[in-house]
Amino acid sequence: MSDPTPDRNPPIKYKQIFINNEWHNSVSGKVFPVINPCNGEKICDIQEGDKADVDKAVVAARAAFKANAPWRTMDASKRGKLINKFCDLLERDLSYVANLETLDNGKPFLDAVDDVRATVDFFRYFAGWCDKITGKTIPVDGDYMTFTRHEPVGVCAQIIPWNYPVAMLSWKWAPALACGCTVILKPAEQTPLSALYCGALIKEAGFPPGVVNIVPGYGPTAGAALSEHMDVDKIAFTGSTEVGKLIMQAAGRSNLKRVSLELGGKSPLVIFADCDLDMAAMWAHGAIMNNHGQNCCAGSRTFVQDSIYDQFVEKARTMSEMRQVGDPYDAMTQQGPQIDEAQFEKILGLIESGKKEGAKLEFGGARVGEKGYFIQPTVFSNVTDNMRIAREEIFGPVQSIIKFKDMDEVVERANNTSYGLAAGVITSDIDKAMTFAQRVQAGSVWINCYDIVTPQTPFGGFKQSGHGREVGEYALKEYTEIKTITIKVPKKNS
Ligand code: NAP
Ligand code: MG
Repeated sequence: MSDPTPDRNPPIKYKQIFINNEWHNSVSGKVFPVINPCNGEKICDIQEGDKADVDKAVVAARAAFKANAPWRTMDASKRGKLINKFCDLLERDLSYVANLETLDNGKPFLDAVDDVRATVDFFRYFAGWCDKITGKTIPVDGDYMTFTRHEPVGVCAQIIPWNYPVAMLSWKWAPALACGCTVILKPAEQTPLSALYCGALIKEAGFPPGVVNIVPGYGPTAGAALSEHMDVDKIAFTGSTEVGKLIMQAAGRSNLKRVSLELGGKSPLVIFADCDLDMAAMWAHGAIMNNHGQNCCAGSRTFVQDSIYDQFVEKARTMSEMRQVGDPYDAMTQQGPQIDEAQFEKILGLIESGKKEGAKLEFGGARVGEKGYFIQPTVFSNVTDNMRIAREEIFGPVQSIIKFKDMDEVVERANNTSYGLAAGVITSDIDKAMTFAQRVQAGSVWINCYDIVTPQTPFGGFKQSGHGREVGEYALKEYTEIKTITIKVPKKNS
């Protein structure tokens, strides 16, 4: 494995559309710029896929899914070996891929290294599933025997966001490939570089042509073409709730393709007075500040019990004051720039709304430096439930600290949102922890920790945070159809 070494200028080797294990220019001849969020400058141009390129990719993915195609006739264990081979290559190039990720996304290099390592872990977990996806035999009435097969759902479109580019790719590709599907990925327009390099590794690993295809481009063109496509069997999406709704509508208007959605959140992290205060402040800080606040399950509503509220606010403020913001290639840096100008402006706008609506700005609230999209880690106290910063997904480094009195009240307020992705509770009382965990409406609940997601843990949302589960064994359900096969057999007991 390569030693992780920061490199500000990794060569950009792949800038085209990846279909059938080959690199293509866009049919339209268009390209789009990829911007470095540290300085707003262009890194390179990428071929811009739209409907015509999506059509080509779907033809390739469909051909690779034919019943007699190599991918479909391959032993399941061989699929696992191919995925593991891909992981070996990703480990070989770990440093390079992490550098692409930092250049493109702006996250600290060491965080990018962790993301690539996690990506390998997610792929290897699903590689192990390939030859363990089994159905059932069922004791049916009459002289019949019935069994089920879990078959791959088919051609899968996958649309991912920019906050964890390569890790999100693994959440999409790994279960799909383990189940024997073929895929077409649209990476986020802001961060296509690591995905395109992974395309090259797919080819090098020896996957048959057409099994994995990548169409970089914009959501309203390439993304919409995938959602509307009549020959795509399933679409998996991670991103905003607003776009998630468009995708479900498109599936309904077109061919009723299967849909799984991992959307936004406004997740509560509830801190009871009996907690270890330093530990609570540390988890709460990480829950909102990690990845620059650009995290779908960020603990973005910090509920603190009234008797420890003031002490907690002081600790939260100190932690944000100490947080190192700046050059993502510096090993001391904890926070780089936000992803782009639109997100930067949106976050600063929400910070202004917090001030106007009467929250107390304890720390931060401003940009850092003159170039790029850096924002100070920001802490608000005296936040109330009706303020925009307590209701809307900010997707930035902004902690909103809210006071509460008791369990009944905090559960009701925690659940008073259209989202339901995640929640956390910090307390030394197991009964309180379990009461909260059972009553809160959220797909993941963390007790005395936060944002612990491993290859084995199912992840997804209640309510408008999404449909379906990714990661863990449950993810296999999203990429398989159940076929029921019934056979006439001799009379029972004869
Ligand atoms: P977004 O628009 O939902 O983007 C996510 C992905 O969907 C991108 O690949 C995007 O393409 C694509 N997309 C956009 N419009 C589409 C359409 N009409 N049809 C199909 N695909 C489409 O998210 P964003 O604009 O990057 O960020 C906006 C907000 O979304 C954030 O502030 C945050 O609240 C939320 N968000 C959530 C997550 C999460 O992990 N749950 C991740 C990112 C963002 P482009 O390449 O054109 O962007
Ligand atoms: Mg967008």
